[in-house]
Amino acid sequence: MSRLVMKFGGTSVADLGRIRNAALKVKAEVDRGHEVAVIVSAMAGKTNELVAWVREVSPFYDAREYDAVVSSGENVTAGLMALTLQELGVPARSWQGWQVPLRTNAAHGAARIEAIDTTLLEQKFRQGLHAVIAGFQGVSPEGRITTLGRGGSDTSAVAFAAALGAERCDIYTDVDGVYTTDPRITKKARRLERIAYEEMLELASLGAKVLQTRSVELAMRYKVRLRVLSSFEDGPGTLVCDEEEIMESRAVSGVAFQRDEAKVTLIGVADRPGVAAAIFGPLAEAGINVDMIVQNISEGGATDMTFSCAVDDVPRAERALRTARDLGAIDWRELVTDTEVAKVSIVGIGMRSHSGVAAKMFATLAREGINIKVITTSEIKVSVLIDRKYMELAVQALHDAFELERAGG
Ligand code: ADP
Ligand code: ASP
Ligand code: MG
Repeated sequence: MSRLVMKFGGTSVADLGRIRNAALKVKAEVDRGHEVAVIVSAMAGKTNELVAWVREVSPFYDAREYDAVVSSGENVTAGLMALTLQELGVPARSWQGWQVPLRTNAAHGAARIEAIDTTLLEQKFRQGLHAVIAGFQGVSPEGRITTLGRGGSDTSAVAFAAALGAERCDIYTDVDGVYTTDPRITKKARRLERIAYEEMLELASLGAKVLQTRSVELAMRYKVRLRVLSSFEDGPGTLVCDEEEIMESRAVSGVAFQRDEAKVTLIGVADRPGVAAAIFGPLAEAGINVDMIVQNISEGGATDMTFSCAVDDVPRAERALRTARDLGAIDWRELVTDTEVAKVSIVGIGMRSHSGVAAKMFATLAREGINIKVITTSEIKVSVLIDRKYMELAVQALHDAFELERAGG
């Protein structure tokens, strides 16, 4: 019997009616003869509420307790989904991450999956039960509940699809596929029939939250056929697949953005070997995800070091840098933060063979009067840091300039 993983995101299970709607989709696949593992997120808004409670109680919270709290939203939907399926006549049972178990490392709040023991699920499938699994959560080597980072149910879904040898992993969400950019930013955004793993990986890591980055990494590594489709309307969705399966060849496939970025500059850093390590070591230890890095030209033995990170990480970054200075590990004169920036990126595997893409991006932004603060590039993407107030304008202008509303090209 063929297996399917079906994942339902927060808006798809936002209330009891929507859980029933999702359960009917599961029933349809069961009736077609599939064994189904359903992965559920917390109801829309629930995880945000739980995170806010944690922060209110404890601004520099203990990550173990953060996970204990924020993992709970998924438990509710898993149980409700199993009950709804049972009411529809589908034999189903729910499991939390630790019960499977889905084993992770101990990086609370952003844990990585290490292994999934499928013995129990295989046994239950043999007994004719379909599985409902709480997404986003696992269990650490110490036996504590962990979470996989925001949006982590996508990663749970792909990991289960790989571990269970599923024929396909269907991600049901509130858009009917992966678009050239977030359809909330421009009506001209177009659904892509297919997108290469590599492009999807870049788009996700550069801010397109339709799939969690790690889920795409896993899908690519284990060759999981990943489909993104709507919970609310029927349609083919978008298939995330190998580059070779894609006919369309264009320089740029999509535009991504990250709204809540911050730029941190250390002015007057002693310019000597080891200084970058001395700065970024403490930041890494504090769990800060540093993104873009620029070291300015030094004068008189001193330099300025600029990096970007998430706005939420700024207080912890500042604390780590001040502590390192107090301990004498680094020396800098001034610390300047700009929390009003955003990152906009263009992505496309076609960039490997098309030249002038970055120049066209910069010219487009210049025409709109948008100043670029930091630039980074890779083989298939160009990212810029700009003032947040221009973010939407930049995305729309780039979408137009690269004619992304047109198919082919
Ligand atoms: P879920 O709760 O189902 O996991 P998410 O909110 O995490 O859903 O992801 C879906 C959202 O991703 C969409 O509502 C859309 O606004 C956003 N999004 C961002 N970039 C894109 C894109 N390129 N294509 C489709 N959706 C995108
Ligand atoms: N509920 C979690 C979150 O909001 C996981 C997910 O939805 O994928 O981040
Ligand atoms: Mg999501």
